[in-house]
Amino acid sequence: MKTILFNLTDGELEQFITQLGQPRFRSKQVREWLNRGAPDFSVMKNLPEDLRNKLSEIAETLPLKIVKRLQSSDNQTTKFLLELNDCEQIECVLMRTTYGNSVCVSSQAGCAMGCKFCASTLLGLKRNLTVNEMFAQVLVAQWELRRDKMRDIKPNGDANNGDVSHIVVMGTGEPLQNTENVIGFLERANTELNISWRRITVSTCGIVPGINELNKWGRPINMAISLHAPDDDLRSQIMPINNKYKLQEVLDAAFAFSDAHNRQLMIEYILLGQKDKNDSVVLYNASEEHANKLSKLLQGHNVMVNLIPWNTVDERDFASISGNAVHRFQDILIKNGVHTRIRRERGADIGSACGQLRLKNAKDKK
Ligand code: SAH
Repeated sequence: MKTILFNLTDGELEQFITQLGQPRFRSKQVREWLNRGAPDFSVMKNLPEDLRNKLSEIAETLPLKIVKRLQSSDNQTTKFLLELNDCEQIECVLMRTTYGNSVCVSSQAGCAMGCKFCASTLLGLKRNLTVNEMFAQVLVAQWELRRDKMRDIKPNGDANNGDVSHIVVMGTGEPLQNTENVIGFLERANTELNISWRRITVSTCGIVPGINELNKWGRPINMAISLHAPDDDLRSQIMPINNKYKLQEVLDAAFAFSDAHNRQLMIEYILLGQKDKNDSVVLYNASEEHANKLSKLLQGHNVMVNLIPWNTVDERDFASISGNAVHRFQDILIKNGVHTRIRRERGADIGSACGQLRLKNAKDKK
């Protein structure tokens, strides 16, 4: 098995390099490349060629490699299918926006939560990701932005300096089932990549003890709650976790977090429809009544509701609703004084919804 250099401490890396008969300073050069996210040794042009060749034979740079890279037609979104050392696959998405570059990071290979609308959970949970595996996803995105610069692609707007500026832990997996590693990863992202707490968001389906743990940790990050229904009956039908932690309990823990850190709470709400016998779409969680119920839960709190048009997953028994229905739902929230916006679909043309790419690849392999 090849040694993964990114996983070595500075001391171990130095030993590894000097054992190859190289001077110590070479290990510093290698470390710099690793920290930039170098995908292989051939790019390390300040190393002698024979060392680069030797390293390629016996080592890897990062604890993951790119299996597929998909670019959206507007070039703003790049989605990566990544393979870990044990051949598990995960996804990671780079979004170039006018306010900065955001990376959507996966926290687990697969997911155990079983939400009925989601692709990520269809193959179950494989395992938690390590701190390094999460950090390396950001480095993959950072390297991609470096490629942009080399191809003379300008950052998307003046407020964008061309580096990764935002992290959202919203990829495959439930971060609060892997809280310790997620915290370790975010601490490193903050110190080593200078990503400020306010530009970090953790999204959860509502694991109350995990939310409380983040609260104790005390960093002023943003929290997003995947709510998706305005009452326990409906929520339990689509999100099994609701049988364990009830909707109001989840919201109370989340409000406590956002109040303690003086942050706006993000509420994610996928608008779902279902096909009836005549093949027309009926609203599932997106009726006027649902909008009013949702407003009542949130009124008076500092929240932003992100309305998410459902990204179709063939294996799932839902349907997307019309743009008009989405706007009607939003209008009711606004009328009730609840801040809301409709999440722009990014990279819909490259299967950017949770777990679609990984699922497709697993099926193609069979
Ligand atoms: N487990 C965490 C983070 C991963 S899911 C959570 O539940 O928040 C990230 C977000 O994508 C969640 O809000 C999830 O509900 C949503 N999502 C999952 N499948 C989707 C789909 N097909 N279309 C749109 N959003 C989806």
